[in-house]
Amino acid sequence: MTPQTDPQAGAAVKAADRAHVFHSWSAQELIDPLAVAGAEGSYFWDFDGNRYLDFTSGLVFTNIGYQHPKVVAAIQEQAAAMTTFAPAFAVEARSEAARLIAERTPGDLDKIFFTNGGADAVEHAVRMARIHTGRPKVLSAYRSYHGGTQQAVNITGDPRRWASDSGAAGVVHFWAPFLYRSRFYAETEQQECERALEHLETTIAFEGPGTIAAIVLETIPGTAGIMVPPPGYLAGVRELCDKYGIVFVLDEVMAGFGRTGEWFAADLFDVVPDLMTFAKGVNSGYVPLGGVAISGRIAETFGKRAYPGGLTYSGHPLACAAAVATIQVMAEEGVVENAAELGASVVEPGLRRLAERHPSVGEVRGVGMFWALDLVRNRETREPLVPYNAAGEAAAPMAAFAAAAKANGVWPFVNMNRTHVVPPCNVTEAELKEGLAALDAALSVADEYT
Ligand code: PMP
Repeated sequence: MTPQTDPQAGAAVKAADRAHVFHSWSAQELIDPLAVAGAEGSYFWDFDGNRYLDFTSGLVFTNIGYQHPKVVAAIQEQAAAMTTFAPAFAVEARSEAARLIAERTPGDLDKIFFTNGGADAVEHAVRMARIHTGRPKVLSAYRSYHGGTQQAVNITGDPRRWASDSGAAGVVHFWAPFLYRSRFYAETEQQECERALEHLETTIAFEGPGTIAAIVLETIPGTAGIMVPPPGYLAGVRELCDKYGIVFVLDEVMAGFGRTGEWFAADLFDVVPDLMTFAKGVNSGYVPLGGVAISGRIAETFGKRAYPGGLTYSGHPLACAAAVATIQVMAEEGVVENAAELGASVVEPGLRRLAERHPSVGEVRGVGMFWALDLVRNRETREPLVPYNAAGEAAAPMAAFAAAAKANGVWPFVNMNRTHVVPPCNVTEAELKEGLAALDAALSVADEYT
């Protein structure tokens, strides 16, 4: 579809937004949201005729791009046949979505509890773990994001937690491995892994193993910086969970459904958690949907005893029909394989070439279609390009970088001192090359601050 220019329509959309929409995580008077006129595949466009290559996949959810005709058709067909139905009934779209998901999840994660998105999936996973173990506490990583509802934001490590943190949520944070900014003075991946596991076991010992229901980790932390854990780390956490009777929850809301070049990031590390959360890519975000994949052992806890939790729209037929069609498209069109192959053959070498040319790039890390550039003022000291949690003037270098990327036709994902390269998993080689060229230009702007 070609963008049509209609600035007047754009102005009307913007005016109504500014008058009445209250935006997430934002100071309402300080934001200037772009009015979007349309989207297709890897691109979206505004009302002034500007088209952008979406290197953010929305909020890392359009894993098959925008407006895939087969998924749009499946939603239309479901709407015509049965738009909605209450969760206590067996409905074809819901049971088929659960079957297709369970077929792909690792190990015996074969029962699916559907939610409306990622945060409520995390809430329910934690509730299941607490009831299953009869223990109160949750351990999670400082460098993490698990959602915006009360319990999920308490489990989150990043600064978005601070304002909502009651201090009485039963959550204890620890440091997960991240060699580039090691908290353990490690110099190798192996040291980082060993020391992070030792730190976690010490944390468990000092908290009291009998008080800990769950360890919740993003398989690959996403929003907090796409930090691929060193080999052996997640297997080590699995062992600690088994040793102390703790439920292992992997949050795959961002990393799941093809993002890493596998159906689930857990497959990259050969680990099987007890509970696994998902959302976003499950239906490319076309209709809100998330869920928890539940192991046999935990499902058994609620065999004869009621699970005390539920949602009016759990397994909404429209969302589930979109999931069925999305999973079929991903399988038929080789979307997961595309993410793995082009991630290795185009994105990784392309980003490493950018790192050679631009002093502002401190580190390139990632896998599949899940990459981060850690931008720095100084490569030697690794001082971030903007301070931790910077806002306003202090964040100006990242704002300048983002503006330059947009001026070159790419919509970048920017968080703190990082840009994440997270295009749709069915992106083409030509689109990636176009995006890398735009990042090249934008990084020249970031270089001015080094
Ligand atoms: N967990 C992870 C790992 C996420 O990345 C996100 C969203 N970015 C969430 C949970 C929360 O998902 P939602 O916004 O759908 O509630």
